[in-house]
Amino acid sequence: MGTVVDAPVVQIEEKDASQNVLGGKKVTVVFVLGGPGSGKGTQCTNIVEHFGFTHLSAGDLLRAEIRSGSENGNMIQNMIKEGKIVPSEVTIKLLERAMLENENDKFLIDGFPRNEENRAAFEKVTKIIPEFILFFDCSEEEMERRLLGRNQGREDDNIETIRKRFRVFVESSLPVVEYYNSLGKVKKIDAAKPIPEVFEDVKVIFSTFNAKKDL
Ligand code: UDP
Ligand code: MG
Repeated sequence: MGTVVDAPVVQIEEKDASQNVLGGKKVTVVFVLGGPGSGKGTQCTNIVEHFGFTHLSAGDLLRAEIRSGSENGNMIQNMIKEGKIVPSEVTIKLLERAMLENENDKFLIDGFPRNEENRAAFEKVTKIIPEFILFFDCSEEEMERRLLGRNQGREDDNIETIRKRFRVFVESSLPVVEYYNSLGKVKKIDAAKPIPEVFEDVKVIFSTFNAKKDL
């Protein structure tokens, strides 16, 4: 029969995190994930000081949106009170705007994506691929203790909503961590330790990353 001719090999370049562009600037994004009370916000503050990132907490942006009197304010407030996940388009718009308005090009996105739909929508809308995922691993007992003790006047830091947030985290957010883990992108931290010890582990991760970027 006829000769078998090898099909030409077409090299399709996979988009990677080094090709992220937003509003004309190259950006680096790290997603910081972990259960409620796992210490994401606290460690993000440390990372900002030491590694020059800008910290964008999705929860803080949503709470600011409520305070601004936006038309979505009531809806957001009700979702937060119930520990539910706000529709992706709302959160993504806030994150995108915050990145565009900031002159920095390195962002820690804390508490987002919270479900697979958040993740896929963010990727589709912004075309941004995260550099890696910093995942704070902590037991529910410890997280519950921290949330009940922190007294930040948050409407969702009561035992009833905390339980709902834990359930949403396990059912919706952990699958996002698992997805990125399957891509080898998750850097997991034991977040049950005291704050300075956790930061020692965080530092190791970010200094390697910085060193890599300088090559
Ligand atoms: N939230 C949301 N989408 C996000 C981030 C937060 O819907 O991307 C809502 C959700 O109701 C969540 C609440 O905001 O329970 C508080 O989130 P935050 O990250 O501030 O708190 P955490 O649960 O991490 O302590
Ligand atoms: Mg937080």
